[in-house]
Amino acid sequence: MLSRPLKFVLISTPIGSLGSGKGGGVELTLVSIIKGLLEIGHEVLLVAPEGSCLPSDCEAAEVIKIPGMEQLSWQHQNLDSPISIPIDGVLPKLLETALTAGKNYDAILNLSYDWLPLWVTPYVEAKLFHLISMGCVSRVMGDVVKKLSKSHHYRMAFHTFSQASDYELVKDPIVLGNGFDLKKYSFQSSTTGPLGWAGRVAKEKGLEDAAKVAALLGDELHVWGVIEDENYASEIESLVPNGTIKWRGFLKTEEFQKQLGCCRAFVNTPKWNEAYGNVVIEAMACGVPVISYDRGGPGELVKSGLTGWLVPPDDIGRLKEAVLKTEKIDRQNCRDWAMQKASYKSFAKRICSWIVEEIDA
Ligand code: UDP
Repeated sequence: MLSRPLKFVLISTPIGSLGSGKGGGVELTLVSIIKGLLEIGHEVLLVAPEGSCLPSDCEAAEVIKIPGMEQLSWQHQNLDSPISIPIDGVLPKLLETALTAGKNYDAILNLSYDWLPLWVTPYVEAKLFHLISMGCVSRVMGDVVKKLSKSHHYRMAFHTFSQASDYELVKDPIVLGNGFDLKKYSFQSSTTGPLGWAGRVAKEKGLEDAAKVAALLGDELHVWGVIEDENYASEIESLVPNGTIKWRGFLKTEEFQKQLGCCRAFVNTPKWNEAYGNVVIEAMACGVPVISYDRGGPGELVKSGLTGWLVPPDDIGRLKEAVLKTEKIDRQNCRDWAMQKASYKSFAKRICSWIVEEIDA
C-alpha cells in the first residue's frame, strides 16, 4: 500500500455548484473521494464552482471557489454537437486554477466531464487524471477519449465496464466502481412501503416507465431528485392517473435515505448507458431491492435474484412482473452487498492505487 501521503487537487463538475444537485451523481462521488483521501492521510485541494459546499466531514480539504458561467451538460446536447464554452465560462477557470496550484501537488484528479481537460492532458506538465463520469453521448467527447487512450490510456478511469464500453480504448479500461459513506444510510426492514424512483428528472433517466408500472399496479411512485425539465415532468404526470407520482423534491442525503428506505422496491429505468447509478447503491444501502433495466451501470450493480431483479431494457411488462416478485428478495442482502462492494474508503484506496502506479511509473 501507500508509503507516503500525497497531495491531490480535485476538479469539480462545471455543470453546477457542489450541493445544487445539478451535477447529478458526480457531486456525491466527489464528496466520497475527498472524505476517503483525507481519512487515508492525503491532502486535498478542491477547485469548484462558486456556491459549492462540502459536508462538515470534509472540512480538512482546502477549497477554492471559482465564479463563472456553468457548462451545458453533454447529456443535453446532440451526438454531433460541437464543443462550446460560454463567455466567462467556469470550466477553463477551474482548469487554470487546478493546473497552477497543481505544480505543488502530486496529481490532479478531474471529475468534470468535458472536452478541454481531456484534450489538454498530454500538453501539461501536471499529472492530470480523469474519472470519467458519463457514457459517450457525443462524437467529440468520444474522439477526445479515444485520442487520450492512445497517448495516456492510464490517465482515465471509469465507473463500470458497461460505461467504458461506449468508448474506443486501446487497452482494457481501468474500472473503479464508486463509493459511499454507508454509515449515513440506515437499514429499514419494512416491506410494505411505496415504490420509489430517484435521479435527475430528465429524459435519459426514463421516469415515465417507472410511473407506468406504478399506474398498472395501482401504486404510488415516490420520486426524489432535481427536476431538470419541467415540461417533461408534466408530460409524465399526464400519462398516469392523478396521484400516482408523489414528488418528494431534492433532499440532502440524511433525509433522502430516511424516505428512500421506506420503499418496498426501487425502480430504476435508465434510457441511456448509465455510467454507474449512485441511487441504485443508495437504495440497496437502505435495504431496498432494486428492480432495474439491464442497461449500463445498474446492469452490473444489481444481482438479479439476490439484491433485486434485472429485466430487459424498455420492457415495461417485465418490469411490472419483477416488481411483483420483490418480496422474494431479502432486504438484508441488499444492504450487505452495498457494504461489501461500495464503501467510500475502499473506493478512495482504488483511486490512490491507480494514480500512484501511474505517477511512480
Ligand atoms: N440525490 C440527492 N437527493 C435526492 C435525490 C437524489 O442527493 O433527493 C442524489 C443521489 O444521492 C445521487 C444523485 O442525486 O448521488 C443522482 O446520481 P445518479 O448517479 O443516480 O445519476 P446521475 O444524475 O449522475 O445521472
